Amino acid sequence: MLNYDRLVFEQSVKGRKGYSLLNNTYPSKYQMADLGAKLRLKTVPLPELSELDVVRHYTLLSQKNFGVETGFYPLGSCTMKYNPKINEELAALPGFTRIHPLQYPSSIQGTLKIYRYLSEMLSEIVGMDAFTLNPFAGAHGELTGLMIMKQYHLNRQDFKRTKVIVPDAAHGTNPASSAVAGMDIIEIPSTASGLVDIEQLKAVLNDDVAGMMLTNPNTLGIFDRNICEICRLVHEAGGLMYYDGANLNALLGQARPGDMGFDIVHVNLHKTFSTPHGGGGPGSGPVGVKKKLAHLLPGPQVKETDGFCYIETSAESIGRVSGFFGNTLVWIRAYAYILTLGKENIKQVGELATINANYVKESLKDDYLLPIEGPCMHECVFDGLLDKSTNVTTLDIAKRLLDFGYHAPTIYFPLLFHQSIMIEPTETESKQTLDDFIAVMKTVAKEAKEHPDIVKEAPHATLVSRIDEVYAAKKMILTYQDLLEENAKINEVK
Ligand SMILES: *Cc1c(COP(=O)(O)O)cnc(C)c1O
Repeated sequence: MLNYDRLVFEQSVKGRKGYSLLNNTYPSKYQMADLGAKLRLKTVPLPELSELDVVRHYTLLSQKNFGVETGFYPLGSCTMKYNPKINEELAALPGFTRIHPLQYPSSIQGTLKIYRYLSEMLSEIVGMDAFTLNPFAGAHGELTGLMIMKQYHLNRQDFKRTKVIVPDAAHGTNPASSAVAGMDIIEIPSTASGLVDIEQLKAVLNDDVAGMMLTNPNTLGIFDRNICEICRLVHEAGGLMYYDGANLNALLGQARPGDMGFDIVHVNLHKTFSTPHGGGGPGSGPVGVKKKLAHLLPGPQVKETDGFCYIETSAESIGRVSGFFGNTLVWIRAYAYILTLGKENIKQVGELATINANYVKESLKDDYLLPIEGPCMHECVFDGLLDKSTNVTTLDIAKRLLDFGYHAPTIYFPLLFHQSIMIEPTETESKQTLDDFIAVMKTVAKEAKEHPDIVKEAPHATLVSRIDEVYAAKKMILTYQDLLEENAKINEVK
């Protein structure tokens, strides 16, 4: 069998060519000039391969990748759902892809209108009054929202308010964004179910509090029923409420942060609204605010008068957080996604995401330890195996799932439990897919009891088995030269 795992450099054969333009028998007037040869100062040591070698190499590499289009991807808190292809096609229309950001507004009225319409749709979905689509990611939206929060207090000459309350169950970006915005963080411990501890909150509410950041449902997938009370307490103390809506799947069409009492919201279009993510692809973290904060939104802003869209930045804006209008093609996908779902069907997203997570939770609780009983929202969290006598850890289970063709769930997050396994099935998976996954999870639990070594030594079916993650992070092999040096060292030791 041919070894296609070899890198392109290893497959190189001296003199083999992909294609050749020169030295053919057509008259020279037909030939293309070899400009490269005139510009090149020295020859570059490139691998010598046929075009077919290269095509096979990269096609095989792509097949080694795992994505939501090859299998089930239960990665909690990440919303790895299927993104309909129609939205990709619409975002790829040349009228969108060939726009230059400095084009005159009169020549891009359609795109600017989509900016306005999507802002209005998102405002309606989360219960806000105005939106900016400019931030490039969730964390970038958080920073934008916190800058608005800070400016709101400064404009009121309320200079003492420099602190942001963040529960310990929050996503790591929340305290990080607060720090980048130059605010101090007050971390409050959560209750045993990961909810806001009202007494702990009351104890820190003061005239130096700028606001509070919250995700609801929280990172355990549990909806905090005290949310109106929490918002009331923070508002009474003079603070603003920030909603981390990175993962909006459970709420879509069901409940609105604006109605719960939040003043600022960001949403991740690359999680909930049809842009594939993972691997650092393009994102978008629009920020919505209540009317009293709308004048502070960053520029450039898209305004409309008598049906004509133009670009302006209001005098009181916090300024720019991005060069232009953010990741245009990401918000075009979101617009297409919301329109194709329609107002009626968007409700089903929240319903199905929640039903799917609860189905997995209830089906697995005889084999996996469910630390918090009761209904969850879009995701559920287990604390390792129910039977703790096996020594099989959450990491072992995640690795064993790879052998069965599943992506691993989120593990060791949230930090509230020692052996967290966080599963988010999303609304796009069928009952059959979930049943197959549940059966495999049960098989792994059985193996853990009967043949723990199979689980502890997994994965067996993947190209590489367990790697030394610390060494891999500390000694990154990013070039072919690095690889040769590393192999030479290994051989020396042998
Ligand atoms: C993903 C996520 C974020 C961060 O979003 P990025 O686009 O990765 O910056 C923030 N909060 C929550 C709850 C998230 O799930």
